[in-house]
Amino acid sequence: MGSGQVTDWQGKHVTVAGLGVSGVPAARALHGLGAEVTVVNDGDDARAREQAAELEALGVTVRLGDGETLPDGTELIVTAPGWKPDKPLFAAADRAGVPVWGDVELAWRLRGPDAAPWLAVTGTNGKTTTVQMLASILEAAGLRTAAVGNIGVSLLDAVLGEERYDVLAVELSSYQLHWAPSPRAHSAAVLNLAPDHLDWHGSMEAYARDKGRVYEGNRVACVYNADATGKPSTEDLVREADVEEGCRAVGFTLGAPGPSQLGVVEGILVDRAFVENRQRNAQELAEVSDVNPPAPHNIANALAAAALARAYGVPASAVRDGLRAFTPDAHRIAHVADVDGVTYIDDSKATNTHAAEASLAAYDSIVWIAGGLAKGATFDELVGGAAKRLRGAVLIGRDRALIREALARHAPEVPVVDLDRTDTGAMLQAVQEAQRLARPGDTVLLAPACASMDMFANYNKRGDAFAQAVRELGA
Ligand code: ADP
Repeated sequence: MGSGQVTDWQGKHVTVAGLGVSGVPAARALHGLGAEVTVVNDGDDARAREQAAELEALGVTVRLGDGETLPDGTELIVTAPGWKPDKPLFAAADRAGVPVWGDVELAWRLRGPDAAPWLAVTGTNGKTTTVQMLASILEAAGLRTAAVGNIGVSLLDAVLGEERYDVLAVELSSYQLHWAPSPRAHSAAVLNLAPDHLDWHGSMEAYARDKGRVYEGNRVACVYNADATGKPSTEDLVREADVEEGCRAVGFTLGAPGPSQLGVVEGILVDRAFVENRQRNAQELAEVSDVNPPAPHNIANALAAAALARAYGVPASAVRDGLRAFTPDAHRIAHVADVDGVTYIDDSKATNTHAAEASLAAYDSIVWIAGGLAKGATFDELVGGAAKRLRGAVLIGRDRALIREALARHAPEVPVVDLDRTDTGAMLQAVQEAQRLARPGDTVLLAPACASMDMFANYNKRGDAFAQAVRELGA
């Protein structure tokens, strides 16, 4: 079970670590191939029991409430991507010489001989938006495609299903890349790189290394963010990658593009990478106003999507048509309502400081609702950069003191309301406090810069609670 393709699964003892979005399809698929599958899962709640019952009915063994003991005879572990590498289960696997694959590795190994190539997208923020834009562009070009992966659509199902695809738009998280040494994309993009999930990866270097994996073995293009200044930059990751002969580095920028880049000139998205004679020529792709919403970070996403589509050979007109046809998902800079001259925006999906920075940059005078689980982040840079645009701040959630302290250091004159409650009424009170602080013309912005799970099931529920609270204000 080393690096080669496994063709005979009959009787192989495979342990699937974790039920859920990736574990259940993995267990099913492996069982279907004849493997002896045991699923181990830390939790033992009602949902887990329900999933366990379904798998047990097929003949899969499921152990609930113990995700740490390596089942005897295990020859391979297929893990849910979120499982931390420092778990005792993996130490036990290491001692026993048992390989560990993630869901993406499994999908890659099980794909058929004529499988659709992957156009892969990773980055700290903008992944989902970019793969959806990419899929929309590929569809506009008449290609059979789907947006799959970390987006909530199982890559394994796409790879093994009946449906035939020409090409897949694949969103990959840093966790998935960590557990996936083998996949080789046709072309891939790293959108940006800012500290996130550092408690999981252990360090910024380890996080960047896992993201950079997406470029390994690319055949046509490695797409990087030419405006990114961090260290390492996404371009540094391209340089370190081992790619196929002839694969090109292609940058995207919000400025005028140089040769081998895509960029923006006078409100037009232009391509100077996938054209004849790129020293002299440029191809118009679309107008900035074709991008929805035309906020700077989203134009960057559109350029990255366009670069991958162009690498695959899509014509310029399909880039324009695909961008026009795209509408963003909920909770991503969504306009909720205007109440008494104040605009309420739901960017609940801003679950880290880098995303919150992008949305805070999009408005002039803001009452900011923030807080939740900080995941090891610090807030000085974010608060320092936004200080001038803050009318006030309302803080919620477990790690709100970290933001409060950053505000005290970098924006001492900004009024702050610190809400010490996590019950279901907390968001309504937060919105009421924000309304009190806001003046006509201001924006009340939910951009928490934190994960939601201390107070909500997920960021969707947090955004829904915000929208509900705003509706109550209006009524
Ligand atoms: P992901 O799938 O990487 O989480 P999404 O497309 O769902 O990304 O967007 C997540 C959040 O990041 C949103 O709040 C959005 O406003 C913000 N965002 C989107 N694109 C970018 C970008 N290129 N740079 C910074 N922030 C971004």
